[in-house]
Amino acid sequence: MNIDTQAVQIGLEWDTRTGSLSIPIYQSATFRHPGLGQSTGFDYSRSGNPTRMALENGMARLDGGCRGFAYSSGMAAITSLLLLFRSGDHLIVTEDLYGGTCRLFDRVFTQFGLTFSYVDTSNREAVLAAITPSTKALFVETLTNPLLKFADLPALSTLCRERGLLLMADNTFLTPYLLRPLDLGADISVYSATKYLSGHNDTVAGLVVVKDPQLAEQVYFHQNSAGAVLGPQDSWLVIRGMKTLGVRLDRQQQNALTIAHWLKKHALVRKVFYPGLEEHPDHDLIKRHARGFGAMIAFEVANHALVEQILLKTELISFAESLGGVETLMTFPEGQTHADIPADVRSRLGINDVLLRLSIGIENADDLITDLEQAFNSEGITL
Ligand SMILES: *Cc1c(COP(=O)(O)O)cnc(C)c1O
Repeated sequence: MNIDTQAVQIGLEWDTRTGSLSIPIYQSATFRHPGLGQSTGFDYSRSGNPTRMALENGMARLDGGCRGFAYSSGMAAITSLLLLFRSGDHLIVTEDLYGGTCRLFDRVFTQFGLTFSYVDTSNREAVLAAITPSTKALFVETLTNPLLKFADLPALSTLCRERGLLLMADNTFLTPYLLRPLDLGADISVYSATKYLSGHNDTVAGLVVVKDPQLAEQVYFHQNSAGAVLGPQDSWLVIRGMKTLGVRLDRQQQNALTIAHWLKKHALVRKVFYPGLEEHPDHDLIKRHARGFGAMIAFEVANHALVEQILLKTELISFAESLGGVETLMTFPEGQTHADIPADVRSRLGINDVLLRLSIGIENADDLITDLEQAFNSEGITL
């Protein structure tokens, strides 16, 4: 079944008694036992909740895994995965990682004896060189943030299998609609469902999908033990959002391509990073492995003064963190999402003081361009 159809089906099978099309929000902490030693399958909502389970099962199907897990945020999901490791273990990580993940690894998990090497995971030789006898896993972002580099999962998964490493892929920017990491050899995919999956900038959530049932048991053990689960209300919101994932992303990508072309021609824009543009270094690789290029654009403006002008003068486009929702948002990565990345790494990666990032929404592309144009042209602003 096609993923668009699967997404619409999430939760439909649940309420056979009333036939309710929308899955009920099971706002219950606990469940009555039918008898001694008996269970309805639900005992306590940290261990399992029907609304959350509908989301978890639906996501597992969409992403081609055996089991899904929903958490209270993307960071909670990644935290739960890191509990698979023990003191002394070493992980190899994509260097231009989401700032929050970098902070979690470097400032929290190093305290528990884990070590991390940041490498350019698009370079196989660099990954090989970073492997030590303690290396247990590779953690990559399928499409990186903000400069949109692509991880060659088929190549990396071959390497991981040869070396006995677990391959974990943060697929937040592409979603299963555009790429299914488990199909390309990853063991675990992880998502900030706050972004494209829920899609409406109205809830914070995380999802994990696991391929192997034994590994899924371990992940479940940690989900239940650490307990950062997604509540039933928010699970319902993510399900509701996911039903339109395909139509939203189709429109967002179409808008993104139009806007990327417009930016490219603008006299005050120095560089445009959008994988859908043929000159993007990973354009061909993404075209080969994914169903689309996503809807994130980064661009450099001519000078730093323009950064503030554009962020404050756009009216339809909101100056706000986050991404993936129906509303177009713009951020300044150096000062916001990537502030926790060490300054020398930031500048090596090209995250500088003239770089802006757009998360393209589903508005009319002409209206977005008109908004950007007036922001570029606004003069004499008082800040
Ligand atoms: C936002 C984000 C996260 C963190 O998710 P939260 O839901 O904000 O906790 C992790 N990875 C990527 C790529 C993200 O964009």
